[in-house]
Amino acid sequence: MKIILAGPPGSGKGTQAEILSQKLDYAHFSTGNVFRDHLARKTSIGIKANDYMKEGKLVPDDVTLQITKDFVTTNTRKGIIFDGFPRTIGQAQGLDKILTELNDKIDCVIFIELSDDEIIRRLTARRTCERCGTIYNLDFNPPKQNNICDKCGGKLLQRADDTEAVIRNRLVVYENQTKELKNYYKNSGKMHVIDAIIGRDKVQAHILKIISPQ
Ligand code: AMP
Repeated sequence: MKIILAGPPGSGKGTQAEILSQKLDYAHFSTGNVFRDHLARKTSIGIKANDYMKEGKLVPDDVTLQITKDFVTTNTRKGIIFDGFPRTIGQAQGLDKILTELNDKIDCVIFIELSDDEIIRRLTARRTCERCGTIYNLDFNPPKQNNICDKCGGKLLQRADDTEAVIRNRLVVYENQTKELKNYYKNSGKMHVIDAIIGRDKVQAHILKIISPQ
């Protein structure tokens, strides 16, 4: 099964994708994580992507589709959860093309939504473990020890693009470009919308209900 989790930055789609992929033993494909990994390894993709990421802009579709094709064509798991991808119509069309060539298709598109004020509140309090990538929130899911990961003892960092100015830019980008995606998927009969204000566990339960066979 191929599932797309879409929504604004800070809606919790990354956390949902992580939990879901473990529960279902699916692959978790987060374009943001792949770009950050490339940057940490100082690859040409990472260096190019960073020019856009540090300003909260979208990395060009050709680069984003290249890492997607590499991932999808080498995936061996029975399902994939796409997290933060596609973000433009070009990416959505590119993904359909990649899957069609593999005789495959998207089964379900879930938009997780949240108000701008709540997003800014959540993202400025977000911290990520530099070693294992576990995500914390200083307000509602703080680590036991200040700035130390509960799981691996790694240092917790604030992402460079989780400052209020960059978040506002990312929200404008989402509004302008990603919202067109809803029109792309609206008539497919595969699209669902969930308001993230109901909380992480209820969002997870809702997603599981959507994707389980009737
Ligand atoms: P995220 O971790 O999903 O919030 O993404 C962080 C940043 O990576 C975004 O602000 C973009 O600069 C870049 N990025 C992630 N996914 C995509 C995508 N599908 N298309 C273009 N840029 C992306």
